[in-house]
Amino acid sequence: MTIAIIAHDGKKAEMVQFLNENREVLLAKNINLISTGNTGRKTETAGFTVEKLLSGPLGGDAQIASRIAEGNVDMVIFFRDPLDKHPHEPDIFMLMRICDVHDIPIATNPATAGLFMKAIAQQ
Ligand code: PGA
Repeated sequence: MTIAIIAHDGKKAEMVQFLNENREVLLAKNINLISTGNTGRKTETAGFTVEKLLSGPLGGDAQIASRIAEGNVDMVIFFRDPLDKHPHEPDIFMLMRICDVHDIPIATNPATAGLFMKAIAQQ
């Protein structure tokens, strides 16, 4: 299973905390992680292996959307910062639209992502 992870700058600490809290299930289920560039670097710092794509504003969200459209992503965890402006907002909406087009689950906050992890743990 491949999970794409993305966190806006104001949410990167929450993403690292989330990954640490779910380390056991992520490792036990052999989850393959892909991410936007800076989220990936933080993820590596936390000790995870992750395929890093471009940074979000430089096209990373678009690259992840492309992977989804190609059928190579099973789930998206995207901690958006609703209190900040983003130059790549069109890409963010596009990514969410592609998830809906292809019926790919997308969690945009830790509470939802936590439910996803519980579901994976039970598989
Ligand atoms: P980043 O991109 O992980 O490279 O910071 C995330 C985003 O802003 O979409």
